[in-house]
Amino acid sequence: MKIKVISSQCNGCTLCIKKCPIQAIELQDKKAVIQDACNFCGICISICPQKAIVKSIDDEVIAPVTNQYWVMIEQKPDGEIDSTSYEMIAKLRELNSSAHITGVFLCSDSSNQDNSELLSSGADEILLLHHPAFQNYNPLLYTNAIVPICKKEMPSIFLFPATEMGRDLAPRIATELQTGLTADCTELSMDAENGLLIQTRPAWDGNLMASIICPIRRPQMATIRPHVFPLPENVARECTVRVEQIDHITNPPEKIVERSSIQSSFPDLEKQNIVIGIGRGIGTKENLALVCDFARSIHAGIGCSRPLVDNGWLPHEVQVGMSGKAIAPKVYIALGISGSVQHLVGMQSSEYIIAVNKDENAPIFQHSHLSLVGDIKKMLPVIKDLIEKKTGQ
Ligand SMILES: Cc1cc2nc3c(=O)[nH]c(=O)nc-3n(C[C@H](O)[C@H](O)[C@H](O)COP(=O)(O)OP(=O)(O)OC[C@H]3O[C@@H](n4cnc5c(N)ncnc54)[C@H](O)[C@@H]3O)c2cc1C
Ligand code: SF4
Ligand code: SF4
Repeated sequence: MKIKVISSQCNGCTLCIKKCPIQAIELQDKKAVIQDACNFCGICISICPQKAIVKSIDDEVIAPVTNQYWVMIEQKPDGEIDSTSYEMIAKLRELNSSAHITGVFLCSDSSNQDNSELLSSGADEILLLHHPAFQNYNPLLYTNAIVPICKKEMPSIFLFPATEMGRDLAPRIATELQTGLTADCTELSMDAENGLLIQTRPAWDGNLMASIICPIRRPQMATIRPHVFPLPENVARECTVRVEQIDHITNPPEKIVERSSIQSSFPDLEKQNIVIGIGRGIGTKENLALVCDFARSIHAGIGCSRPLVDNGWLPHEVQVGMSGKAIAPKVYIALGISGSVQHLVGMQSSEYIIAVNKDENAPIFQHSHLSLVGDIKKMLPVIKDLIEKKTGQ
């Protein structure tokens, strides 16, 4: 164990020198330098206003921050690319316009691969890792394919979508690379002074937002919630494809014999233009049926807050929020939803939010574009009228 000063972050304020109980810090060239006498008490770490003092394992070198960013591009079983990949590329580009962004894509047949969609993803380069066994997601194979090339090229940042695959794969890769991983980020920013990625996610049941950095190890890794960043508007950019044949892995011992989709009576939430989010304010199961009929009549999908799933009234696949889905429809209509942080993280990227609540002080109103104070049942005809006027139906 060692205590180190990240000198690029130290502004020479000398606070740590004054507070070190055994005078184990000296100022050299206006930067704090930890001396051999340090007994690792950690006092200086907590008091440094610049967060410039860190614990590190022996002889570890602080990896440089570079402009090389990687983004995992996920292909769903039906062949569609998960849009979170594009959202992450766009966000990284917004944070650093001179970054070189590589989209990492695993494929089972690089010769048959139609790359046109990938080439317009907004990345500078697509790294196609090819092996016949990559047809289906396999955590061990994917990890074994990505880790060696990642170690060799050592990007500064490596982002994954917080999908089932990303949440499974990213920790495996982070463990192999012995670097940090922030799960389920809802915001990213860049420290202007040192170029470190500030990874922000809800913590303590969503009651506060934690901003996390990875100052020493690389890559700085995070999984990103779907739809928290907008899709890029103009992605015209020159993009090259680099194919790497992966020879060092063997076929997995297991085989996928059959794939079948879960049958659901609810349409896929992520594909709906209009979603009605139903909350505890709905009151009874009978009212729920009424709203479901109403949703069908305006061609809207059904979403809900967690209490309805806990009650067994609606399935988890339509739960919106921190432990459910993140969606960004054109219109989200929140009926009898109070607006907890855990619900908001799943729908606040919606283009237009209509909220109905009988409590005029409900927190959801701070996030809605149109706030309707009143009883759900009475407001349904008003909403229908609004939607018909907007869509001309
Ligand atoms: C770790 C963790 C993860 C969680 N994940 C999620 C998640 O993914 N998604 C999620 O939704 N929650 C999640 N929650 C739960 C969350 O904290 C809230 O408890 C939940 O979102 C509240 O749901 P609600 O707004 O429907 O209910 P309530 O907070 O009870 O609000 C009901 C609202 O309905 C209004 N109302 C009542 N009657 C009427 C009426 N007749 N007409 C109009 N308005 C009416 C009330 O004024 C009130 O504002 C999570 C919690 C934890 C701890
Ligand atoms: S407290 Fe932090 S910023 Fe101030 S001298 Fe020490 S290391 Fe540098
Ligand atoms: S860890 Fe403790 S002993 Fe070491 S430099 Fe900091 S304050 Fe001094």
